[in-house]
Amino acid sequence: MIDSHCHFDFAPFCDDPEHYLALSHQAGVGKIIIPAVGQRNWQAIRDLSARFPNLYFGLGLHPFFSAEHDVNALIQLESELAMEAEQREKKQSHCVAVGECGLDFAIVNADRDQQISLLAAQLQLANRFELPVILHCRKAFPELLRVLRQNMPVAGGVYHGFSGSHQQAVQLIDLGIKIGVGGTITYRRANKTRHTIAALPLGALLLETDAPDMPVAGFQGEPNRPDRLVKVLGELAAIRTESKQEIKQATSLTTAELFRIPI
Ligand SMILES: [Zn+2]
Repeated sequence: MIDSHCHFDFAPFCDDPEHYLALSHQAGVGKIIIPAVGQRNWQAIRDLSARFPNLYFGLGLHPFFSAEHDVNALIQLESELAMEAEQREKKQSHCVAVGECGLDFAIVNADRDQQISLLAAQLQLANRFELPVILHCRKAFPELLRVLRQNMPVAGGVYHGFSGSHQQAVQLIDLGIKIGVGGTITYRRANKTRHTIAALPLGALLLETDAPDMPVAGFQGEPNRPDRLVKVLGELAAIRTESKQEIKQATSLTTAELFRIPI
């Protein structure tokens, strides 16, 4: 399995990556994709993925940290992506996406215009470098759709941590965006999300933990971990008609294809 969204450069993982990778491997999670948050962690995630070949990463500017991104952030992102593209030609890059990027209107005093222009610029960079996007969105769905439609992601992408309606999921899938399924579905009270995800085409779904965030049910109050992807898989099998094995195979294949990584 592939954890399509795990902040593996954060604590506690960065303190002992060997240990947490071993736990993941034992649980059948062979690969992890690490989304960036901003300039401050690009080098750290690149270094981590150079040390451990089963780690891949995205480079981007997370909307939650908009206030941190300085005026040079986009220029620097462009040059980092160009450098990775050169490395990719030599099959030496583990940069597989632009992200995470998106809109977060739930934060206090969000500068919406800044977020929208940073997202549009990152979608354009993704298209220029033919990379998929990792999308984060809170309380900004109509605006996100509008920006996506104006800058259609040619290499696709994933909407991570999905917890919306059936109609929203269908609108994303129509734009070639996959649906990131995480710990939300392990909570019985998340009825709407569980029903929505149960009814979507299996080929549109990716598994993720968003560790150390989004703890799965039963582990609230402690940092989430990539090996708990098995809990997400188990719950997905419980709410859908396919077997655990079928879901595991299909979601791994979809993730590998989207990010163009070996399975
Ligand atoms: Zn995230």
